[in-house]
Parts: sequence; C-alpha cells; structure tokens
Amino acid sequence: MPPQAEPTPSGVVFESDTQTSDLGLAKDVSVLKKAAPKKYEYVWFNIFWFLFLHIGSAYGIYLGVTSAKWQTNVFAFLVHLMCAIGIGAGSHRLWTHRCYKAKTPLRVLLMIWQTMGFQDCIFEWARDHRTHHKYADTDADPHNAERGLFFSHMGWLCCKKSPEVIEGGRRIDVTDLYEDPVVMFQKKHYMKMMPILCFLLPTVIPVYFWGETWLNAFFIPTILRYTCGINVVWSVNSFSHTFGYRPYDKSLNPRDNIGVWMICVEGFHNYHHTFPWDYRATELPLYNMLTPTIVFIEAMAKIGQAYDLKSVSPEIVQKRTYRTGDGTHSLWGWDDPEFTEKLKEKYGSIHNTQQKED
Ligand SMILES: [Zn+2]
Ligand SMILES: [Zn+2]
Repeated sequence: MPPQAEPTPSGVVFESDTQTSDLGLAKDVSVLKKAAPKKYEYVWFNIFWFLFLHIGSAYGIYLGVTSAKWQTNVFAFLVHLMCAIGIGAGSHRLWTHRCYKAKTPLRVLLMIWQTMGFQDCIFEWARDHRTHHKYADTDADPHNAERGLFFSHMGWLCCKKSPEVIEGGRRIDVTDLYEDPVVMFQKKHYMKMMPILCFLLPTVIPVYFWGETWLNAFFIPTILRYTCGINVVWSVNSFSHTFGYRPYDKSLNPRDNIGVWMICVEGFHNYHHTFPWDYRATELPLYNMLTPTIVFIEAMAKIGQAYDLKSVSPEIVQKRTYRTGDGTHSLWGWDDPEFTEKLKEKYGSIHNTQQKED
C-alpha cells in the first residue's frame, strides 16, 4: 500500500503546541474529522487473544463470587489500581503529556506498575497517545472515533495500523523519551519483565501467601484484572469520544461523560483534549479528589517525588469555554446570567471568531 499519508494536526499535545491566547488552535479542526474508506488487515492473533481474555474474565467473575478467598478479590483490585496509576499517572500524564516531572524512584515505580498493566511499553504507549491527540478524529489517529464505537474501543488493535497512523507516529517528537533512562530500560527489557509482572506474579502471590487455588489465582487477579484494565482505557477512547458533553471545545469528538467517569474514573475527556498538559482530570476539585491517579500525583508532590505540576488557570478555562464550548459548562453555560448577549455574540461560534484572536 503506498504511504500516501499527509496527516494534518487537529489537536494539541503540549501547551507549546497551542496557537491562540486561550490555548487552542487557530483553525477550525471540526472540518478535519475524517474516516476514509479503509481495507482492514486483521491481526488474528490479537482477535483470538481478546476472545480468550473476555471468556476467561467471565469465568473469573464466576470464580470470584463462588469460590475465591476474599484476599484474592482484594488483591485483584489492588493490582488493578496499581496498573491504572502506572498507566494514568505514568505513561499518560508523565510520559505522554509531561504534566509534571518525577524523580527517579517515582519514575521506576510507575514504570513497574505500567509494565504490570501490559498495554505496550511506555515508549510506544506515549508515542501512540501523542499521535492520538495531535491527529485526533482523523485517519492518523490510531483509534479514530470517526470510524465507530467498536473500532475506537478495541477494533483498532484487531487490525494493522494504516499508513496514515504510521506516518503520524513518525512525525511525533519523542526525543524526551529517548533521553529518559527508565523508559529506555523498560523498552529494552519489556518482553522479559512484562510476563513476570503482568501474569506470573499476580498468579503466584495468592497461591503462595494465602493458599489460593491456581485456577482462582490465574483467572481473577491475572486474567480478569488485566481484561478490566484494558477495557477501562479502551472505554475512554470509545465511549468518551462518542457520548457526553463538550463544554470546553465543541469542535472535538472527546466528551465529558460522568457515566464513563463512574466506571473508569477518567471521563472528563473534553477537558483533557482541550488542555492535555493539565495534570488534573478536570478543573472540578471534587472529581479530582475522587480520582486515584490525581490523588496519587498530588501525594507524590507532597513528599517531593513529583514536582512542576502544570495546570490551567480558571481565567483561561473560562475564556476558552466562552469561545469554543458547546454551552453546557456548569458555571459558564449558555444559560449563565453573566454570559450576556454581547459575549454570546463574541464567543458564540468558533467559525466567526477564529480570525480575530485577542
Ligand atoms: Zn482521547
Ligand atoms: Zn491524553
């Protein structure tokens, strides 16, 4: 297939990518959304692997409620939490978006937890996720939501990457990842570390420490826990790109969805795609306080392991909401009395304001 790919950026990854004073792009990205007809080349190994995982997980749920020791179920949840923080605070907020900086002990811990979650090594995860933000909702987005709910959930992993995605990934700057020895160490030893951390240890620990059966230990803290972990991340790519409100930028597919937040504890996706370098999940303090990844980053900052945490000021959030939001913001929505007719006229549409930024 000829690599006829000329991806056009439709999103931002870092604050330095932005072009307007309210931290957006100076173009209407909604017109860039695209899913051209595509011939899917299936990756059968992944398809059968996902089938096994989901059938095995159903069995894991059955074992969890019928024969497992309570310690095994608690352990499965704790391992899930560690993996979620390894991916959420590690490969996502630290390594993809550089939302904060971390000292070596914290980077090593996050790398171990991220490996336990088995969703590719940090290097590949961060490069793919930067590609997702930079080319969001276009054919260069690895899980382009314009291609449908199933494709953006897991379908993209069941077929080969398209030339546009490969070209998009090639254009992403990853020099900072090459310069991080923790990331490079994991990349080099990933295929040795991952099976031990993701599959072997979660199976052996319950058998060795509290006499769980091999069957329960394999299907609950290992297969069921792993399958839950990947579905949580996939749900953000699929449901949060399809259902919900867009209070910050209505030109983007990513949406804020409380339902996804309740299941995945990461559902403010319109906020995240609008201000991806913000270490917080949302500007709303209560939800940050209930989000383990954010609580973890803040706790690490208190003990000096995390530092230089970046967040977006309320003034910028308000300004951006007025200009590009869909009017559903709880504070600055269309019905807000402070949102006068004059302001509506000024900020009401991204089409007529994109020329004259102040
Ligand atoms: Zn997204
Ligand atoms: Zn992101």
